[in-house]
Amino acid sequence: MPSSVATPKLKALLQSGWQRFYSDFLLPDRTPEFRRLLEQALARGYRIHSIASIWEQIKAGRLEEGPLLVLRLDIDTDLRTTRALWQVMRELNVRGSFYFRLCTLDVELMRAIHEAGSEASYHYEELATYAKRHRLKSRAEVEARMPAIRALFAANYRRIKALTGLPLHTVASHGDWLNRRLGVTNLELLQDRSLREALGIELEAYDDALHSHYAQRYSDGAYPRLWLDGDPLAALASRQSVIEILLHPRHWSANIAVNLQDNLGRAWEEVRYRVG
Ligand SMILES: [Zn+2]
Repeated sequence: MPSSVATPKLKALLQSGWQRFYSDFLLPDRTPEFRRLLEQALARGYRIHSIASIWEQIKAGRLEEGPLLVLRLDIDTDLRTTRALWQVMRELNVRGSFYFRLCTLDVELMRAIHEAGSEASYHYEELATYAKRHRLKSRAEVEARMPAIRALFAANYRRIKALTGLPLHTVASHGDWLNRRLGVTNLELLQDRSLREALGIELEAYDDALHSHYAQRYSDGAYPRLWLDGDPLAALASRQSVIEILLHPRHWSANIAVNLQDNLGRAWEEVRYRVG
């Protein structure tokens, strides 16, 4: 390619394309790094919680002395890596919360997680799902359909509860490409106390009732920004009091088949949303 054609914009595009390719198809297995992170937390005296287990303490007004680490995994894709991370947690006898989408629901795994003292619950996205299905193009259109969006959520939530037999006392919102496009989070569908009470939902993982106890939350990211909000290892080393670490299995190992399928599915969704 002539250098005159390789404008800064094109270079940036090529670089981000390469990074995405590396992240999706070449990323080495980071499970050993996950193990080291948990071992470091345990060595520094952290007690490791699921969101359900720390919520029980907050609710009862008896949050134990720190340092505490809340471990949350959003299962957006990739059950194979989820199982690998779960295996590490079992070996270290560590709890955490696993939030499954409808497309990653695995009843057997969810029950096993619950029976071992961790939490398995619902990573919901009905607002985005509904907006895609009905090709809603603005916040106003979404708000006008909120009763139907909430009904869809309630039906799915009840179905998962019946299917798994799990308490699902806490749930966590998924962030979809359409949420970003419309500037509306899935979380907004749960800004309705009566809906939560009717379903038995005690906490949304982003609620202030939980986050007000955190010194900081750390989230993983796609290569090359493997941590978005600073390195949690530094937080552990300084024994930061109460922290949450949010992980997505996709960022911990390249599951080529799953990522390929997810990328194609994403492109197809976009086409249907625009053209359909
Ligand atoms: Zn998600």
